Amino acid sequence: MNWVITPPPRPALHVEGTNARFPVRRIYCVGRNYAAHAREMGHDPAREAPFFFAKPPDAVVPGGGAIAWPSSTRALHHEVELVVALGGHGEALTPDAAASLVWGHAVGVDLTRRDLQAEAKRQARPWDTAKGFDHSAPVGSVLPVTVGRPAADAGIWLDVNGERRQQATLAALTWPVPELLAALSQLFRLAPGDLVFTGTPAGVAALAPGDCIECGIDGLPLLALRVG
Ligand code: MN
Repeated sequence: MNWVITPPPRPALHVEGTNARFPVRRIYCVGRNYAAHAREMGHDPAREAPFFFAKPPDAVVPGGGAIAWPSSTRALHHEVELVVALGGHGEALTPDAAASLVWGHAVGVDLTRRDLQAEAKRQARPWDTAKGFDHSAPVGSVLPVTVGRPAADAGIWLDVNGERRQQATLAALTWPVPELLAALSQLFRLAPGDLVFTGTPAGVAALAPGDCIECGIDGLPLLALRVG
């Protein structure tokens, strides 16, 4: 191919215990998928249909590590989430069929410029600048389902500078992964390389420059990062 500029590198995640990589095609995210987080954001936690937004694939920060403090925010929030990595195609799927697309799982942080998100909500504007900025999607190593997977009631937690900020279990997901993927597949044709951030539990809060984050889900590789 005679490219007119150098093609950008393909975003990819580490695969736990190997030197192989998982290529990232798209990043979908779900909002308000834990009742306690819906409440802390000022919403009725009654079971509503899931809603989705996206981040660009090159927002991934594979394996975490040090990331620069993002521009244009005074309220950078952490949201620890179970991330599902897909290995198959499908659309308009049943929950069982959707679950069969899952290739692996990882821990991710949906970094959010909460001040820009609040302004976007007020003005009924898109969330891209609040959610889809550079380095907004740190994701740990992917554990293939052929090796293991988190239990349905696995703990999910996030510490900042050694202090626990978020803690819940995956059993508290309003929409479990099969139903979530089935709903997403009504809107988009899912494909290998897609990542789905499945929502965050309560306890989201602001970060400060220099903060160290450690987060995890029982049974999955830990994720650590430092911002600013
Ligand atoms: Mn989120």
